[in-house]
Amino acid sequence: MRGLELVHPTSLDEAIKLLDTDDPTIRPFSGGTALMLMMKTGVFQPTRLVNLCGIEAEHAEVTGSADSGLKLGALATLASVERSPDVIQIAPVIARTMKRLANVRVRNVARIGGNLAHGDPHMDLPPVLSSLGGEVVVRGPAGERRMPIEGLFSGYYQTVLEQGELITQVVLPPQRGWSSAYLKCTTRSADDWPALGVAVSLRIVEGAVAESRIMVSAATEKLTRLASAEAVLKGTDATDDAFANAAEAAAAEAETIEDARGSAEYKTELLRVHVRRALGEAVRNGVIQ
Ligand SMILES: Cc1cc2nc3c(=O)[nH]c(=O)nc-3n(C[C@H](O)[C@H](O)[C@H](O)COP(=O)(O)OP(=O)(O)OC[C@H]3O[C@@H](n4cnc5c(N)ncnc54)[C@H](O)[C@@H]3O)c2cc1C
Repeated sequence: MRGLELVHPTSLDEAIKLLDTDDPTIRPFSGGTALMLMMKTGVFQPTRLVNLCGIEAEHAEVTGSADSGLKLGALATLASVERSPDVIQIAPVIARTMKRLANVRVRNVARIGGNLAHGDPHMDLPPVLSSLGGEVVVRGPAGERRMPIEGLFSGYYQTVLEQGELITQVVLPPQRGWSSAYLKCTTRSADDWPALGVAVSLRIVEGAVAESRIMVSAATEKLTRLASAEAVLKGTDATDDAFANAAEAAAAEAETIEDARGSAEYKTELLRVHVRRALGEAVRNGVIQ
């Protein structure tokens, strides 16, 4: 059995230096909830874990205002995001999503950066943050880069992060004028991993859909933006008939996959039903002021 070294940098720069290596068995560690499961099941055997929890406190901050949007530090726990007054005011869909994400013990420990970097398409937060127009900030040996949340994922449990690169922050634009909803469809218990996740954001002007973002996760190989459903909605009156048409376009566009939670055909049917429902729910949730 190989030994495991745990190191505790006190700054982001030090962490990046410790991770700047060609050895893929050296990994960052934030909450450890995903990593520990992989280690226990033997899927992954690291030789060195770089614990990010002791780096500068600013990387765990959650800040924002209605005019500037939200900044979620990568080391912020899911529970601190859930309880943040700024999040509850500016993007309440995030706080609502947390209620059915794992359980309070996991949310107290898991961090925003670890949640995104894990690359699991069944995660609840990536579709929500993406539908809010979120971007992820990444720092590595070559400097900083920024990309839309959906651009982070390159495949099933795969991200575009290079060895040595760390997620440092999630940035969300102001949400004023937008309405949002997330529907998680589980086929076992209510707080199970989703068989399908649908997140939508709409900007309705004088009764018509001016802009929308429609994201699907869990039923597809990776988080996917449904551009054809968005195109169907653009300029139409925000009615249930229009939402049904967008749902048809979503079902035709998305490449669903089979897994333990159902066949690809079943997931497509779930998508057809839940896109329509999510759009209706976004309208009922009301406009962010
Ligand atoms: C019992 C249980 C139930 C769960 N149910 C749900 C659920 O219903 N819905 C849901 O969405 N999720 C669920 N999860 C998953 C949970 O959300 C993730 O395990 C958690 O968000 C991962 O965050 P972490 O900080 O613990 O990551 P870690 O385990 O620390 O790390 C995960 C991965 O990210 C890397 N990493 C960590 N931090 C960074 C960083 N800043 N930059 C780059 N790479 C980094 C690590 O090297 C590792 O590869 C569940 C987990 C458990 C244990």
